[in-house]
Amino acid sequence: MSSILNADLHCHSVVSDGTLTPEQLAARASANGVELWALTDHDEIGGQQRALAAARANGMKYLTGTEISVTFAGETVHIVGLGFDAEDPRMAQGLQRTRGGRGQRALEMAEGLARVGIPGAYEGALKFVGNPELISRTHFARFLVETGACHDTHEVFRKYLTEGKPGFVPHRWASLADAVKWITQCGGVAVIAHPGRYNFTANEEYALFTEFKAHGGRAVEVVTGSHTAAEYVEYAGMAREFGLAASRGSDFHSPDESRIDLGTLPYLPGELTPVWDLLTDRIQ
Ligand code: AMP
Ligand code: MN
Ligand code: MN
Ligand code: MN
Repeated sequence: MSSILNADLHCHSVVSDGTLTPEQLAARASANGVELWALTDHDEIGGQQRALAAARANGMKYLTGTEISVTFAGETVHIVGLGFDAEDPRMAQGLQRTRGGRGQRALEMAEGLARVGIPGAYEGALKFVGNPELISRTHFARFLVETGACHDTHEVFRKYLTEGKPGFVPHRWASLADAVKWITQCGGVAVIAHPGRYNFTANEEYALFTEFKAHGGRAVEVVTGSHTAAEYVEYAGMAREFGLAASRGSDFHSPDESRIDLGTLPYLPGELTPVWDLLTDRIQ
């Protein structure tokens, strides 16, 4: 297939930290002209059947998806999985293991916020949670906006939820090796999500790409809602240097919070191999 395809292979529903249902996302993607879609909830595949059915109902092709949280070189890195067999129990088991620590982490986040004069954040965040196994920083951010502590979720992250701030609790997620293994052993392709977002040195970033590739990873997000136009060029270069295919996805979470809507990013640069070319037999 051509790189001139309106593929959106990264977004979130109420099954993780988005505010729309899989059906609402599918309708919105289709209305925006998306031809090939994937729902990639954080550490979850509970929305996959609904997303596939909704993609079909809206005339879109579909790839299964998830976005796995990984700890690499002391930072959280996200690895998107596409086109895996969502019925394979090894994927569900791996994801369940990595989701496990979220409840305790959320309680500790609330303690940190209480210490700076924001009580009740655990209960407050829970009101925004669609999936009890997936309480995330985003749900805390929505609560802090609701209370008026901050104007928007970006401000909450900046002031309260990032490294060194009162509501930040370090967490050990899956290993890079495990995340890539869960995806590839279930027939999918592993993709480095939004590489421009990590605070890595050049050496650490080189190590991430090298180890990812050594574990069997095959693609990188080049055109994502998290990248600037300069980063499209930079990571197109990294895709070429490391022999990786390229992916495209908005990372849409919510009509009220996301800058970039589903299906509205530029096309992939023509000289790259689109990730969907590696997945022709997995498209549903
Ligand atoms: P968690 O998996 O609980 O650590 O939450 C991570 C999620 O928080 C990401 O997937 C984003 O949706 C959101 N997030 C992270 N950093 C920011 C930020 N600076 N502004 C807004 N949302 C953010
Ligand atoms: Mn998110
Ligand atoms: Mn991410
Ligand atoms: Mn995401």
